[in-house]
Amino acid sequence: MQVDVIPLSLGIEGFRVIASDERDDAIEVAIETVLPAACCPGCGHAEIVPKERKPLWMRDIPLRPGKQTWLIWWKRRFACLRCMRTFTETRDEIPPRTTHTNRFDSYLSARAIETPYAQVAAEEGVSFYRVDKASRARAERTLAGRAVDPPTRLCIDEQSHLRGQVYNTAVSDPDRRRVLELIETRKRRPLQDFLAALPESTRASIEEVCIDMHQPYRAAIRTALPHAAIVCDRFHIERMVADELDKLRRAIQNEVPKGDKAPLFRTRRKLRKGTKKLTLKDLDDLAALFDDHPDLEVAWSLARDIKHIYAAPDRLKTRGQGSPIT
Ligand SMILES: [Zn+2]
Repeated sequence: MQVDVIPLSLGIEGFRVIASDERDDAIEVAIETVLPAACCPGCGHAEIVPKERKPLWMRDIPLRPGKQTWLIWWKRRFACLRCMRTFTETRDEIPPRTTHTNRFDSYLSARAIETPYAQVAAEEGVSFYRVDKASRARAERTLAGRAVDPPTRLCIDEQSHLRGQVYNTAVSDPDRRRVLELIETRKRRPLQDFLAALPESTRASIEEVCIDMHQPYRAAIRTALPHAAIVCDRFHIERMVADELDKLRRAIQNEVPKGDKAPLFRTRRKLRKGTKKLTLKDLDDLAALFDDHPDLEVAWSLARDIKHIYAAPDRLKTRGQGSPIT
């Protein structure tokens, strides 16, 4: 290492450069603290004598473009003249046994926003793990620094996996399009515990909770968020109505003689179609079907009314939509 010091602006307070060595691909900078340790951390005595120094190597941001930069902190050791303990100087901003400065991590994670991690790792001569860790730390700092208002609405949905053998419960914030929690069951208790454990201010701010018609969810919300309005998701309601209509169709199909089953089976999809999607041919087929099975027509009209009610722009407009039930 050369003794002549190249002019470097370190930007780290409390240190000075004591030597530096610049090569084609790297810079090494030896540094020491400006102020020696004041007193013994064991007994508080001020009479201490310096002993040997030990180097701590730390990777730092490039002090010249394209050059790996290493800081070598020559940490002093001291001995206390009263209790005879020895100790090494410390700095709060540099943890013991660290291998890099905090600003090197910030530099890596800033590069990794635009550049693939593997490329950053290769170009900077560090591990993929180092880049990944620095990026995670940046993301956590960003999230922690963002003041987030508590949600006013929640959506609770069940999700099935493995062909319905496994059910999870997803709790999300529909206004921010964010999943807040994934619970590995659709039972009441875990959801209730999650909602009850939310901060008081968050629970108070939730005005509406949108769910499917799964009864345990309703019970969990009634207990944990008694002030919140429960809203049933319209798509679940429409699907349930369509399923009930199909159930009726199948029941009739099972009862009628063999030769009359075909029209019931053929119209199974037409019964589920929205009114606007029905062709003239569809309407003729349905009219013929309803002539033979008036119960099916009543059920079909009710299902259609529910769709219209949801499609209406306001409550008043829904009044004209329902057909009289006889
Ligand atoms: Zn001491």
